[in-house]
Amino acid sequence: MTRPMRWDFIGASNIAERVIASLRKIDGQQLVAVCSRSAERARQFATGQRLEASSTDLAALLREGKFDAVYVSSTNEQHCEQTLAALAAGCHVMCEKPLAMGLADAARMIGAANARGRVLGTNHHLRAQASHRLMREIAAAGEIGQVHGVQVSHAVHLPPHLQGWRLDKPGAGGGVVLDILVHNADLLRFLLQREPRRIHTVTQQSGMGKGAVEDTAMSLIEFDGGVLAQTHESFVAAHALTRLHVLGTKGSLYAVGSLTQAGTAQLWQRDDRGEREIPVPPVDLYEVGFRAFIDACDGKGTPLASGADGERSMAVALAGLASAASGRAEPIAAAL
Ligand code: NDP
Repeated sequence: MTRPMRWDFIGASNIAERVIASLRKIDGQQLVAVCSRSAERARQFATGQRLEASSTDLAALLREGKFDAVYVSSTNEQHCEQTLAALAAGCHVMCEKPLAMGLADAARMIGAANARGRVLGTNHHLRAQASHRLMREIAAAGEIGQVHGVQVSHAVHLPPHLQGWRLDKPGAGGGVVLDILVHNADLLRFLLQREPRRIHTVTQQSGMGKGAVEDTAMSLIEFDGGVLAQTHESFVAAHALTRLHVLGTKGSLYAVGSLTQAGTAQLWQRDDRGEREIPVPPVDLYEVGFRAFIDACDGKGTPLASGADGERSMAVALAGLASAASGRAEPIAAAL
């Protein structure tokens, strides 16, 4: 039995619509209210998503709403203060990535959740992808020998309805590094079960980013134990397939199409016995992630990605931005 929860949504965002569709598949979830900076946007969102209430006054909403949980999906510079407000009101919080704009803010969020005994999750949905869970298990079982390298091709074409703050507002956390490298960093930590230590990133503008905002990045990340990962993120890659290749001393694992929101993928294992496709069951990535979060709020297990995991993926992305600025490899800040 899933724990019934009353939900508030902070941010009248595109991703909140997707998450609401997934939450509606989970028994007992009461999707109550949305908070936006615009009364009109809030009203429209509430009507479109069949929520009871809309507001621009977060403090009043949190005071009066009797919410169990809050989903924060505003632009990135607002995540920290909104999460702190929700935690102070006694709510569990699922926050979007990147958790905040700086590591000190992430530390405040994690500290506040711990102090209040509330669950803080980071919505790194790629941990829910069945192919990634299979790759993690197969690699951990030693089936492809010692893993020494990973290649992540996560270059997409940003759809027109998302071509806003991501491309021209560095203050809101725009740019492909905080948008996509942050997901890749979390996925690599999840797959390898190792910590990243150093990153060398090169960024560029390839036609979408404006001002100082990068729309393309490539990185080399060094993990504990001598594992190297290469990542490619882009907003301008038309008709590209996402690809993930895990390389071991005895074989490799190769996934196509897994780095999306769709929850489908194809996966192959290659070794001395040849190449075979491993069936990957399709899943609703957000349903899986939010189920785990709700269970964690009920004292059962942990979120797929915790606040601390969100802080780690941010540390990688921030070191990547520092590397792009300095032109050198940069150390990744140690865990809190
Ligand atoms: P959106 O651009 O859809 O929404 C972000 C904010 O922009 C909203 O909260 C809203 O502010 C404002 N906004 C929305 N529509 C308009 C409009 N027409 N005019 C002016 N302002 C508008 O962002 P996303 O949904 O793409 O991303 C939100 C967060 O979720 C980010 O942190 C992002 O990194 C993360 N994300 C995570 C994904 C995942 O799979 N984990 C996937 C996509 C995004 P207000 O609330 O004030 O109305």
